[in-house]
Amino acid sequence: MQRDLSVLWHPCTQMKDHETLPLVPIRRGEGVWLEDFDGNRYLDAISSWWVNLFGHANPRINAALKAQLDELEHVILAGFSHQPVVELSERLVKLTPPGLQHCFYADNGSSAVEVALKMSFHYWRNLGQTRKTRFITLSNSYHGETLATLAVGDVALYKSTYEPLLMKAITVPSPDCYQREPGESCREVAERMFVHMEQALAQHADEVCAVIVEPLIQCAGSMRMYDPHYLTLLREACDRHGVHLIADEIAVGFGRTGTLFACEQAGISPDFMCLSKGLTGGYLPLSVVLTHHRIYQAFYDDYQKLTAFLHSHSYTGNPLACRAALATLDIFEQDHVIEANRALAQVMSEATAPLKDHPHVAEVRQHGMTLAVEMVKDKANRTPYPWQARRGLKVYQHALSRGALLRPLGNVCYLMPPYVITPEQIHFLAEVMREGIDLAVAD
Ligand code: PMP
Repeated sequence: MQRDLSVLWHPCTQMKDHETLPLVPIRRGEGVWLEDFDGNRYLDAISSWWVNLFGHANPRINAALKAQLDELEHVILAGFSHQPVVELSERLVKLTPPGLQHCFYADNGSSAVEVALKMSFHYWRNLGQTRKTRFITLSNSYHGETLATLAVGDVALYKSTYEPLLMKAITVPSPDCYQREPGESCREVAERMFVHMEQALAQHADEVCAVIVEPLIQCAGSMRMYDPHYLTLLREACDRHGVHLIADEIAVGFGRTGTLFACEQAGISPDFMCLSKGLTGGYLPLSVVLTHHRIYQAFYDDYQKLTAFLHSHSYTGNPLACRAALATLDIFEQDHVIEANRALAQVMSEATAPLKDHPHVAEVRQHGMTLAVEMVKDKANRTPYPWQARRGLKVYQHALSRGALLRPLGNVCYLMPPYVITPEQIHFLAEVMREGIDLAVAD
């Protein structure tokens, strides 16, 4: 720990916290478990920032990677190609919603969103539509940490400091179902809130390249959830107004909402789909943007026309990462994971159901394999706890003492576990969460 703190600057961390909050150095991982140097084990309930799908040190992914390592570790992807990237692209084209048939790779989620934003803008430019320079986003959305992705995000904690550096997005109120009126369904909220999107599109379509959304769950925005109907309405409106739709499935893709991709629940195909995180089963950094042929074709011309997408990252389409992704897709297929997850999602729902009656829980919400519990000061009128009290941190600390890694987002505790979790382990997490919430609200 001391060696770490003298040379490292950790992500998303006020380093001063570590004067009192011990770091957790991890020696090894196995399945849902992380083990520290004293032999303590922690159940990874958040899949190590939502990346891990089939457990740590998964034997099948390990074997695939070891084999790949002896063949080819990396090669430039401009002018060159390799088997894992071709096979992965073929399989992603088959698995993603209809029409998405060209894969552009990058090496992390933020970079994939940057690619989609640039491609959308550049598409319109190649068509001579130079007035289109802006993007529409939803309030409370999150799309990454780079300057353009922060600009189309709306989580103040990460964004506001950098505001002077950022392009101005058009922000439309989110269809977040937490804001429903008594008696209102999530579908009705989606319809009611869509009026704002329709207005923004009607007013700004001529200057807007694309609408960007996180389908169904605004994950970094406290796991707020909305109804698939909103996406169906959005697809239709984007087409009608001549605006692209970017689906950022970086967090929700690969089964987190119950279907392989969240867009499936709305029966839509976006113009750009961004994938990362679970893409490699949580093993290696890789991301991809899928798009359809009409977009690809608008860049395809003689070099001298300068219409090409001259964007690259050094590790684009890394063969080891692609091999991990292929092994991950094999597991989805061979183990019928999406079907098997339905039973696990049901266990998550049942195990946390008693929390609905907790005096300081406003809501327990769920889309498939993602479940969130909203702690509030006052249940009747949903008054939040002030952020300064850091109640979520108390849940985190309690969970560590009980052998679980829960990492609440503000006042929202959530489960987004690896799919190799057992029903007993889910019940254990629900118990730890309940104890943590009791402690966190106890003054
Ligand atoms: N988009 C969404 C929806 C995300 O949840 C995240 C990561 N939390 C990102 C983009 C950024 O991905 P990365 O951290 O790999 O840059």
